[in-house]
Amino acid sequence: MNNVEHIGIAVKSLAVAKPLFEKLLNTSCYKTERVESEGVETAFFKTGETKIELLESANESGVISKFIERKGEGIHHIAFSVTDIHSEMERLKSEGFKLLNETPKKGADNKWVCFLHPKDTQGVLIELCQERDSE
Ligand code: ZN
Repeated sequence: MNNVEHIGIAVKSLAVAKPLFEKLLNTSCYKTERVESEGVETAFFKTGETKIELLESANESGVISKFIERKGEGIHHIAFSVTDIHSEMERLKSEGFKLLNETPKKGADNKWVCFLHPKDTQGVLIELCQERDSE
């Protein structure tokens, strides 16, 4: 795995969190994107080499609203950049990690993504991501 590509933060309201993070990081959100497959609205910020991804649930039953119900707002996942997502998924599977999707899916910000089951990773949801046009 390479660098931490971004940190995902679950928020109740992007309308509240987006201006707050703009103030906090002293930078403007460079992209907002709805990811239909995940049922989320996202907002991205660049912070040097890495990014912050704010996640708001697009509907009541989405993964983000369930996460907030259980744990409240806060860090939702850590995403690592990988060079070859397929071989990294194979490697992790052979090490006994459970993948939440068996094939890479289209994530936000032009990425192929795969999530690992947090039960295998000390409760931390891990995302692998690879730039989509580099494949
Ligand atoms: Zn993410």
